[in-house]
Amino acid sequence: MNIPDITIAIDGYSSTGKSSFAKLVSRELGFLYLDSGALYRGVTLFCMENGWISAAGEVDGMLLRPALKGLDLHFGKEIPGHLYMGEREIEKEIRLMEVSSHVIPVFALAFVREYVDEILHREGNGGRVVMDGRDIGTTVFPNAELKIFMTADPLVRARRRAAELEAKGMPSTIEEVLENLKERDYMDSHRAVSPLKQAQDAVVLDNSDMTFQQQMQWLLDLIASRWGNSR
Ligand code: C5P
Repeated sequence: MNIPDITIAIDGYSSTGKSSFAKLVSRELGFLYLDSGALYRGVTLFCMENGWISAAGEVDGMLLRPALKGLDLHFGKEIPGHLYMGEREIEKEIRLMEVSSHVIPVFALAFVREYVDEILHREGNGGRVVMDGRDIGTTVFPNAELKIFMTADPLVRARRRAAELEAKGMPSTIEEVLENLKERDYMDSHRAVSPLKQAQDAVVLDNSDMTFQQQMQWLLDLIASRWGNSR
């Protein structure tokens, strides 16, 4: 195996399996995995625990901004790394529904995006890193050597998401999930702050009909074609 010391940026629509694929890549290539969404979720949890999100869903930026200086969010040493707030592992809490529903006003704050980008730059600077998010290849690491833009047929994504929800004991119809996905696609691509868009030099991975193994092989072939034999 001869994998170059590159940075891999993975962006794309929600429920295309970005995080699962990025974690697989990190394990297979021995790369560091940085989950940018987890950091936005971590800042959101911090706000919620301090009571800085009002009932109307507004964030108290005046209190949050100075407090971020003392907020230590970092990934653990395990592969893929879990998120920690100081000594405390918060990987499970940041995935809770309440956090998901409060994250929007938090990630929209410019100083929060600066805070998250700084962590990603600090932790990802050495290369051999894979990151996933919405704006990694366009804004955070525009010089990443390999940019992947993930997409899949909306119906396939809805089926996958519905199966995931069912496994978590939250059954819903494919139609409901599909409607919600379309709304999120629209919001992600049209929002004012760091909208989701494909970087010009990104390679599209449409995984509608692909298993994880096939996606991994696709990536290894891509690396081999650009940088010589990868295995
Ligand atoms: O991917 P995940 O659902 O964990 O992301 C949490 C939230 O942070 C999402 O609402 C997503 O739109 C936002 N996000 C972002 N920029 C990123 C990664 C995630 O605005 N680079």
